[in-house]
Amino acid sequence: MTHDKSIGPLPYALGALVLACVLAVALSLAHWKSLSSLEDRVRHLAGEVMARGHAVSDQFDNTALKALLAYPSRDPCSDGAIEMMRRLSINARSLRLIGHVSNNRLMCSSYGAHGDGIPVGPPDHVSKNGFALRTAVVLPLAGNHRFVTTTHQNSGFTAFIVPGLISDVMPTASTGSFGVFGATTQRITVSRGELKMTEAWLRTPMAPGASRVFQGQGQLIVVQRSAQYDYVVYGAMPLSEMRGEWRTNALILVPLALVTGLALAALIVLLAKRRQSLANRLRQALRRNEVYLVYQPIVDLASGRWCAAEALARWRLPNGGMVPPDVFVAVAEKHGLIQDLTACVIDRFARDVAALHQRHPGFAFSINFSAHDFANADSVERLQHALAAAAIQTAQVTVEITERALIDANAVRDAIRTLRDIGIRIAIDDFGTGYSGLSYLTTLELDALKIDKLFVDTIGTDAVTKNVISHIIEIGKSMDLKMVAEGVEHEAQASYLRAHGVGCAQGWLFAKPMAVEELLGQLDREASAA
Ligand code: C2E
Ligand code: MG
Ligand code: MG
Repeated sequence: MTHDKSIGPLPYALGALVLACVLAVALSLAHWKSLSSLEDRVRHLAGEVMARGHAVSDQFDNTALKALLAYPSRDPCSDGAIEMMRRLSINARSLRLIGHVSNNRLMCSSYGAHGDGIPVGPPDHVSKNGFALRTAVVLPLAGNHRFVTTTHQNSGFTAFIVPGLISDVMPTASTGSFGVFGATTQRITVSRGELKMTEAWLRTPMAPGASRVFQGQGQLIVVQRSAQYDYVVYGAMPLSEMRGEWRTNALILVPLALVTGLALAALIVLLAKRRQSLANRLRQALRRNEVYLVYQPIVDLASGRWCAAEALARWRLPNGGMVPPDVFVAVAEKHGLIQDLTACVIDRFARDVAALHQRHPGFAFSINFSAHDFANADSVERLQHALAAAAIQTAQVTVEITERALIDANAVRDAIRTLRDIGIRIAIDDFGTGYSGLSYLTTLELDALKIDKLFVDTIGTDAVTKNVISHIIEIGKSMDLKMVAEGVEHEAQASYLRAHGVGCAQGWLFAKPMAVEELLGQLDREASAA
């Protein structure tokens, strides 16, 4: 990518980073969406296996076994008992056969009595709650089916289950694996598919009803323990199943992310260019003296009289739009134009105020300096010369420096001393917002504090910071500094400040910034009324 030299490579790099981040978010969203939908499918599969397992268990453990155990005959293979087995196995869809096993032989079943018994082999494992499990029993009398059998150890009653009843025809299972294993035996009873449950997975302890999801052997695996019975079911599907859905998701999300990311990147570059072009336009405006000043009166809170005014810079664009001073002062500071801006402000100020000062010599003014203006002598010298040339008493002028500019108190000390030596006063602007610590208060020679609007706004409210203003006032008093409260908009704020001994205030309650002619007119009216 080529980049405009005037704004440098940073905005482009930032734009590219934002684009990359948005794309990465879109890709992981596509991945997450397809993974979570695969998980839904695997959970559904495990859920079906569980439902079938429960159907079998309910029919044997809960119904058939209970009925057989309650049968009054002592002989488990009595005609009555066999008749009951027959009825029970007809009713229970999942149980192919119910019988009685003794010494590893099926002695009788729903088919009738089996003489000396049909060997069924020893159990593969026995669960803690007394059921013996055989996972591959073949009975000649029932074709060549392989049965899973579960025998109630105490009574010998046994259910024969066709594993296919659990595992067959699961529509969601075409590529899936699933199975059942004993929760306490940790042995597989039924399993289908390519997934081989490892010993570690079988042994992971789980609370009844709990489930867990993990990945292994390239599969997403859901393991779920039955809440009622002593077994665990699992379902699994290959992670490769996600690919199709991932592609669909990505096809929607990636173009969306591209458009959003490109728009954001373009916005970043555009803003940088705007800022840059703002700097160019400010440079031009300063050359053409298009920056001008308005004056906001500062009132004496005791008498209500206008005693001073703060000069505030204004910049109107050729299209009539105003650029706020916070913005263009920051642009000037960033692009090395602050000295020119201050020079322009000083010259304007001297021109604006010369006549007014002759008519109202007791009226004071303040102007704002940036940190840079304190760090080199130019602005200080320029102010000194401009005031002298316009015959403005230095004693009537205050220079405001924001608390933020005082982070390096040493850098401003000389300028402050020079200004005070020629009679100019120094005020700390936006007091309380500068995070600079208060040590400068003891090391710098200051005349006034301007209490920031932020704290004035808390007067009469429940804000957590509402007590800060009283501390600020105490600091001002103890340092014997003149205090000016900024941004006073309500009478209640003025009353509070007056009651707490703050001398002066500035704010829309009294007057908004105005042209110097308007200020002069008002001062003339006041003087003639007096
Ligand atoms: P600041 O020096 O703290 O000036 C006070 C700001 O509060 C002014 O905003 C003023 O218009 C505004 N203000 C006064 N009373 C009220 C009120 O009752 N309510 C509200 N909401 N606002 C009130 P403005 O003129 O927009 O100036 C903003 C900042 O720009 C100034 O804050 C100052 O830090 C800076 N600035 C302005 N002119 C100059 C300048 O010539 N040189 C430098 N270096 N900075 C300047
Ligand atoms: Mg100020
Ligand atoms: Mg301020």
